[in-house]
Amino acid sequence: MSQAENPFLSLAVPWIAGLTPYVPGKPVSELERELGISGSVKLASNENPLGPGPRAREAMDAVLAELGRYPDGGGFELRRVLAEYHGLSPMAVTIGNGSNDVLDLIARVFLQPGAESVFSEHAFAVYPIAIQSVGATARVAKARDYGHDLEAMAALVNDQTRVVWIANPNNPTGTWLAAEPLKSFIGSLPKTCIVVVDEAYTEYVAEPDFPDATHWVETFPNLIVTRTFSKAHGLAALRVGYALSDPRIADLLNRVRQPFNVNALAQAAAIAAINDREHVRASVELNRAGMKQLTGAFERLGLAYIPSVGNFVTVDCGRPAAPINEALLKRGVIVRPVGNYGMPNHLRISIGLESENARFIAAFEDVLAS
Ligand SMILES: *Cc1c(COP(=O)(O)O)cnc(C)c1O
Repeated sequence: MSQAENPFLSLAVPWIAGLTPYVPGKPVSELERELGISGSVKLASNENPLGPGPRAREAMDAVLAELGRYPDGGGFELRRVLAEYHGLSPMAVTIGNGSNDVLDLIARVFLQPGAESVFSEHAFAVYPIAIQSVGATARVAKARDYGHDLEAMAALVNDQTRVVWIANPNNPTGTWLAAEPLKSFIGSLPKTCIVVVDEAYTEYVAEPDFPDATHWVETFPNLIVTRTFSKAHGLAALRVGYALSDPRIADLLNRVRQPFNVNALAQAAAIAAINDREHVRASVELNRAGMKQLTGAFERLGLAYIPSVGNFVTVDCGRPAAPINEALLKRGVIVRPVGNYGMPNHLRISIGLESENARFIAAFEDVLAS
């Protein structure tokens, strides 16, 4: 909305006035309303096509009768269960309304106008928004082969740098960093600089030298690791994520956290989901097969894609992706264009059920041929 349309723009603090909001994947209901169609598929938001597991569903059913009461504002049981799962103290856990909420808490605690914050080109779009929403200055490191270039990132760190963000693996590229280089990068940062390792997709990764940065929280007091229930656990709509850190950092994050930021359904479901290994295993297995199905199709079509360890894959259409995306929408297929990530020829496809992937492949082939 421009100044002419929004007279309040001049009243907003300058960094908010200049902020471009996050663009979420279009909901199926919205597309179907617009086009008057039905039976569309959404492969646009890296959701788990299996949804919540049976344990989470049962836990939510049991909580329905209690929804007239406020949730546990401190998330006592959820923090206890997460701490036990990770072998850390409950004091190391900060719960969030999605891990997005935690990323915002980090920005609010450690950034302000004049402070700098570093992330990579093609990294998750929420980092620049979190940085700008508190008036800090973003420093963007050039990517290498679409992935994080740790040397380029280190070169941007100075006395003003307060937060460095790393998504491992990264969204929307699906690229990842191995344990050794990541650990030595974290160790090389000044103690005045917080480093966030965002592990939203960690459950999907099977590479032998892929790190679990939660193991380093006790080694590096300036490290914050974030996790979410939105992806492999299939609870995206509930909004629940968390950070693991030194308890002294968690203390600061909790000072700005809204007291009831994680609702009662979300707390109950997350407590049940964290130990539902079978649901995560089934989700990861489905993802592996779906990844083969999609990348096999791209190979047949002679299209390059970025090898991904997540639950999505980003394909190079070899020409502007926006019109291809529009044509897919008309065929009832919602995927994610990533022009806003500096990748105008790419589309990101979330791995769905076999039938959903097949729907996408057929529509994609049809669009490319027309
Ligand atoms: C999806 C995603 C998240 C998780 O967001 P929630 O707020 O927990 O739903 C975090 N980081 C990255 C890189 C993601 O892609």
